[in-house]
Amino acid sequence: MPSVLLVGSEATPFAKTGGLADVLGALPSALARLGWDATLVLPRYRGVQAGTLIDRCTISVGAFSADARFFEAPLRHGARAVLVDVPELYDRDDLYGTGGVDYPDNPRRFAVLARAALELTARRGIRPSIVHAHDWQAGLVPVYLKALYDGHPVLGGLASVFTIHNLAYQGLFEADWLPRLDLSWDLLSVDRMEFWGKVSFLKGALNDAAMITTVSKTYAVEIQTSELGFGFDGILRRRAEDLVGILNGIDTLEWDPARDPFLPTPYSVRSVEGKQAAKVELLRRYGMPTDDGVLKRPLIAMISRMVDQKGFDLIAALAGELPLLEASFTVLGTGEPRYQDLWQSLAAAYPDRIGAHIGFDEPLAHLVEAGADMFLMPSRFEPCGLNQMYSLRYGTVPIVRAVGGLADTVHDDIDGFVFRDYTPAALLEAMGRALERFTDRRKWRAMQTAGMKQDLSWDRSAREYVRMYKRLEGQRAKGRSRLDP
Ligand code: ADP
Repeated sequence: MPSVLLVGSEATPFAKTGGLADVLGALPSALARLGWDATLVLPRYRGVQAGTLIDRCTISVGAFSADARFFEAPLRHGARAVLVDVPELYDRDDLYGTGGVDYPDNPRRFAVLARAALELTARRGIRPSIVHAHDWQAGLVPVYLKALYDGHPVLGGLASVFTIHNLAYQGLFEADWLPRLDLSWDLLSVDRMEFWGKVSFLKGALNDAAMITTVSKTYAVEIQTSELGFGFDGILRRRAEDLVGILNGIDTLEWDPARDPFLPTPYSVRSVEGKQAAKVELLRRYGMPTDDGVLKRPLIAMISRMVDQKGFDLIAALAGELPLLEASFTVLGTGEPRYQDLWQSLAAAYPDRIGAHIGFDEPLAHLVEAGADMFLMPSRFEPCGLNQMYSLRYGTVPIVRAVGGLADTVHDDIDGFVFRDYTPAALLEAMGRALERFTDRRKWRAMQTAGMKQDLSWDRSAREYVRMYKRLEGQRAKGRSRLDP
């Protein structure tokens, strides 16, 4: 049976701060369904009880040394998670830092994760077909494979894949970490790990992984440009032949309007009647009126981190126009105080039309996806984006900017409304088109149906990963040197 060792820093149901957790919670099981033996290694953070003890050993990185315990927990379809328990490093309040400040020993915390994943595999003595590392926190996996395990009987010459979930996070640290991570000073050069005088775990992985993937085809192209490459566009262009985009899937069990426990009335593509009950409940939850006039008016929703990446500055520029549109708005999110304040003051000024909920609320997110008529995502950049896919599945027509995964999942005038320029005028024009179309019930229903029928499942994504793994294995077997960066 082919096997894959996945390494990353968070996964549902064990630990989550963002979309990476959704991906790593689902991908191993989806691969297992396709006949792969899949093991995901991640830290055992505070509060995680899952798993049974399967192994323990000493892990050393530089002068740091600790007794690591490995706990195995089953995932769906025979896949498994192995949680690395090193309390000194992972038993903390948060995953990456507190009060907006990263933990100063993050380089060590995630170097130990990489070493632990590789040491565990070496101790088992079974060579995986592929090693697949995710984001900078697992960035040292490909680096260590080359630097420390090249001649190893189990791990030597293993093919590694690295996935970029968001290039904005690069694992940048002071250069003097290198010797403390068992890495030589040679790596402090621009064509290895150096990034403006610092070392970048991300850059190490981009150089040393045999293949690089990212989470949509369009984002794979965009990150090769200076506009969205964050300074890594040069290396990504150099590696363009080994860079592919594979769109994330969504959990179609958890996000299914036909059996979503957070909706008052389930519904499906055959009949979207249940959306009305969700709309009533949603308006009620936001303290907005639910009379006939309001119910007939299209409801535009957002669920988002309130940061510039998500287009909140564009919306702020339209703050005077939104209340004039023939629409209601509900927003759910947390983030920059200026955006939270803006939405709260809009809601206070127009309580019949605008609702703001500042906070993180997963059940409410489900109700929003069902109860809204349209979903707004005017992102500046968006590696993949999950909410527009949930919207499509819930018959809620997305209005999005044509970037990254949004461009790959929403089709203008077919299942959503897409605009190109990052300007308030372009956004307003797309909203105008959507509001106009909403008045034609038959055409609107056709758009909902088109979205609800899209295959957004993990199966589709996992098949693409497997194809890529096999290609990599095949190329390795033929000994083609191009893949040996
Ligand atoms: P990103 O990972 O950049 O934040 P994505 O759209 O890929 O954006 O994923 C965001 C995930 O977090 C989605 O599952 C979304 O529903 C959820 N989410 C974001 N903000 C909130 C919130 N305030 N309440 C509930 N869920 C939220």
